[in-house]
Amino acid sequence: MSETMAELVGFDEAIARYDPLIGLETHVELGTVSKMFCGCPTGFGAEPNTQVCPVCLGLPGSLPVVNAAAIESTIRIGLALNCSIAGWCRFARKNYFYPDMPKDFQISQYDEPLCTDGWLDVTVHPEGAPPSQLRVEIERVHMEEDTGKSLHKGGATGRIHGADYSLVDYNRAGIPLVEIVTKPIAGTGSLAPAAARAYVTELRDLLRSLGVSDVRMEEGSLRCDVNTSLAPRGSGSWGTRTETKNVNSLRSVERAVRYEIERQAAVLDAGRRIVLETRHFHEDSGTTTAGRSKEEAQDYRYFPEPDLVPIAPSPDWVAELRAALPELPAARHARLQSEWGLSDLDMAALGNAGALDLVAQTVSAGAAPAEARKWWLGELRQRANTEGIELTALAVTPAQVARVSELVASGGLNDKLARQVLDAVLAGQGSPDEVIAARGLAVVSDDSALLAAVDEAIAANPKVAEKIRGGKTAAAGVLLGAVMTTTRGQADAARVRELILERLGQH
Ligand code: ZN
Ligand code: MN
Repeated sequence: MSETMAELVGFDEAIARYDPLIGLETHVELGTVSKMFCGCPTGFGAEPNTQVCPVCLGLPGSLPVVNAAAIESTIRIGLALNCSIAGWCRFARKNYFYPDMPKDFQISQYDEPLCTDGWLDVTVHPEGAPPSQLRVEIERVHMEEDTGKSLHKGGATGRIHGADYSLVDYNRAGIPLVEIVTKPIAGTGSLAPAAARAYVTELRDLLRSLGVSDVRMEEGSLRCDVNTSLAPRGSGSWGTRTETKNVNSLRSVERAVRYEIERQAAVLDAGRRIVLETRHFHEDSGTTTAGRSKEEAQDYRYFPEPDLVPIAPSPDWVAELRAALPELPAARHARLQSEWGLSDLDMAALGNAGALDLVAQTVSAGAAPAEARKWWLGELRQRANTEGIELTALAVTPAQVARVSELVASGGLNDKLARQVLDAVLAGQGSPDEVIAARGLAVVSDDSALLAAVDEAIAANPKVAEKIRGGKTAAAGVLLGAVMTTTRGQADAARVRELILERLGQH
């Protein structure tokens, strides 16, 4: 089949004629100290081929031993995803040749996965429409090992095409991987791209709350393969799927689904067939291109791994792990929403801005929920947007925001001064209290200091003063403005207003 980029159908048009079916396979690198079947360390970014041994290099005669911490993490993931945990299961050899896999097989699980039949509830946030709930069924959660990493040198793009030679780094070979596979997700219609993104987001947050992985998509510790197929609208007869590999950001998950829907609709409209294949997603163009034609299960010649004993987690251990699960993101979200008294849309706004944890930490540090939300979604988000960074990358801590909020509530700072304090904190000039002390930024509410400024303003504006004496108290704003100018905005405005009216016999 030709790969002509122009052959697309507009998304709305595609959805009008076809129902999309999506499925997601997610690989998670576990954050264990050692590898899946040997004692090698797992740290990211070490010199190539320094974290290897005969087992993970697949040398003859070496024997794997299962990492108990990896099994424990996998069971916890399964439990958090509402899966059944197998009482007995085995590893399998998945045979295929690839230069970054020194054994020529991957130890994985095939027909006996550790966890099966679960679900994850996600909230889909389509642009310009209210959020909706979706239950994603989980087919299986199984354990396997990661491969090494090929580095293609000499080409312009870092891809194998055009490269002069390739190098292989086996540090990653044997790092514990958990693969989480959904059942096909039907019925999402035009929400399919947003639903795929929402699922990966929720899964990432869940894995992070379990503390089993650092879930960094950009470093590859969370990698997503997106399956997409179409059926003529209402027919239920699904066409061949494609599998877009290793999509490495949440936004890309959404774009990859959208693009495949548009592309497949065009292929089907032209009376051609979708080829069962893997596809690569390109960040720059938002398109996918054909990879290899997809293997069938029989091509892998799976058989039970003879070098490993079966895994049989005791019911007591599983019950212990279940009882020790932390509060999961969905439950925490619901709890915070009710504690803070926010609407679904308010919570969605916090989530979309990546501000939920920041607001929670600011509230824990003593700020009122409404104030914490106001600072993070207002002033601070504006600054983050200007700098083009995430809220979490701002040089201010939730505790510092809580301190500023507390000073505003107690009258020690007005909003204008509070913004100046935050600016200074963001510029690295110290904590809020240090900035206030260094710059003398506190609100002046001391009457003797204010009265001098009030008298000065009255003397400078005799006509205005006369109007106020005559009962036109609205004119006090002019004098208030003058006082704020001479005090460089540091006066307590409400108190100044009272003093002006008192001085002019209106109180
Ligand atoms: Zn090793
Ligand atoms: Mn896999």
